[in-house]
Amino acid sequence: MAEVITPRAQDYPQWYLDVVKQAGLADNSDVRGCMVIKPNGYAIWEKMQRGLDRLFKETGHVNAYFPLFIPLSYLAREEEMAEGFAKECAVVTHYRLKAEKGGRLEVDPEARLEEPLVVRPTSETIIWHTYKKWIQSYRDLPLLINQWANVVRWEMRTRLFLRTAEFLWQEGHTAHATQKEAEEEAHRMVRVYQKFAEEYMAMPVLVGPKTEGQKFPGAVYTLCIEAMMQDGKALQAGTSHFLGQNFAKAFDVTFTNEQNQQEYAWATSWGVSTRLIGGLIMTHSDDQGLVVPPRLAPIHVVICPLGRNEEERRPCREAAERLARALRDRPRDEFYGYEPLAVHIDTMYDKQIGYRAAEYEVRGVPVRVEIGPKDIEKGACVLARRDRPGKEGKQMGVPLEGAADQIDHLLRDIQKSLYERAKQYRDARTVTARSLDEFRDLFPLRSGDSEELPWNALKFVYAHWDGTRETEEWVQKEFKATIRCLPFDGPQEPGRCIFTGKPSARPVVFARAY
Ligand code: AMP
Repeated sequence: MAEVITPRAQDYPQWYLDVVKQAGLADNSDVRGCMVIKPNGYAIWEKMQRGLDRLFKETGHVNAYFPLFIPLSYLAREEEMAEGFAKECAVVTHYRLKAEKGGRLEVDPEARLEEPLVVRPTSETIIWHTYKKWIQSYRDLPLLINQWANVVRWEMRTRLFLRTAEFLWQEGHTAHATQKEAEEEAHRMVRVYQKFAEEYMAMPVLVGPKTEGQKFPGAVYTLCIEAMMQDGKALQAGTSHFLGQNFAKAFDVTFTNEQNQQEYAWATSWGVSTRLIGGLIMTHSDDQGLVVPPRLAPIHVVICPLGRNEEERRPCREAAERLARALRDRPRDEFYGYEPLAVHIDTMYDKQIGYRAAEYEVRGVPVRVEIGPKDIEKGACVLARRDRPGKEGKQMGVPLEGAADQIDHLLRDIQKSLYERAKQYRDARTVTARSLDEFRDLFPLRSGDSEELPWNALKFVYAHWDGTRETEEWVQKEFKATIRCLPFDGPQEPGRCIFTGKPSARPVVFARAY
């Protein structure tokens, strides 16, 4: 039997770890901050990759690959980036070991690299170093390149998927002839991320710029998607940066424009990572385990034929196989990423159906079908939807004839209702603070105090802010809440800062964050 999952209300962080472990998503490794992504977790990542990659290609991007190692001097070229990433870089200084007697290995002091190599924390520098060779004329632009890779940021406080020292991601790096084109690209890509988050992950997001204080080192501005986790904390789920001419200037990337003048190229970069899997878990999963939206589910449907002995089992198994075939043979369409439905027939006959059901529930399979001897007599089956565990999500006596159609509808309905449920959840936890007192009530703990709030008490809080970094930092210190973004679709009217009384251009969203 699957181990017990700690209920969210009892210990939310432990619940998260239990789900990650028991759904077979990932494990800690012996290397601090680095995780082992297990097959069920990696299968979700592959689905995410395929979905995103299609959206990138549809918007004109192509994939390429750049080196893992970046010469230290490249990173030093762009000052803000150098400063921003200096504290969290892994650095290679030697290229050889010495084998001692007794199987001991030591770094060979004579094999010191002339120039240390930084394990990429992000690839702007090495890519713009390359772009200098690729960009001469306006005809070489725009350059719309994406890379799928791993990166390393030596994070101090790590958490599986959400913040790891090594993570998998994609990073887009584009070069443009004009500021307008580059800004349009940065906006286009944050909207692509929004589409992916909402339509594939069923995870509603706020979209908008970060503040100066929260932007990416080296960016002119950073656009982001921000999601609410079930505990009311925010997760930065993706970022798209307008980099201006900062990297073109740092790497001397100029081109001849249509007027035959030399000009620096304009840049963007954008990325999402395996953090999205953490976001997926914390948006939909429940005390029974993982819940995966059908569009990202490694297995869409599990069919469990029942029966006490071979005689009873055979017709159930044959019906299961017919249904599996009917499901797999359905025409491929966009909803399933133009892939056939993934159907698994479970044959753990020696186990009780309760055990078998729980196994697939914990792993988040969206639809379970049970076919028992009594169902066979009626030419029917039982459907259970994962997003509504228990009786509520069970349909008995569903005719086997036409069950494939019904399951397809059910999967689409699950996708839709997961999104709606998450959106309602977030909207119900989004409020406005009109005064400092109201704000204090919403973020009641000062830093250093122990957390004693109910597990899902935190909210997204709109409040007026005077636009200064000092106020932003004071709020962060006092309330552990940060400005998540200035949502494009949020209220825009001016007012007065609730912290200082100074004029405020518009309300911004505060939250505690992962
Ligand atoms: P950035 O290059 O800092 O804008 O990061 C791009 C995206 O990578 C962010 O939106 C995060 O979702 C994700 N990310 C950043 N740091 C980490 C980390 N330590 N672990 C996992 N994902 C991360």
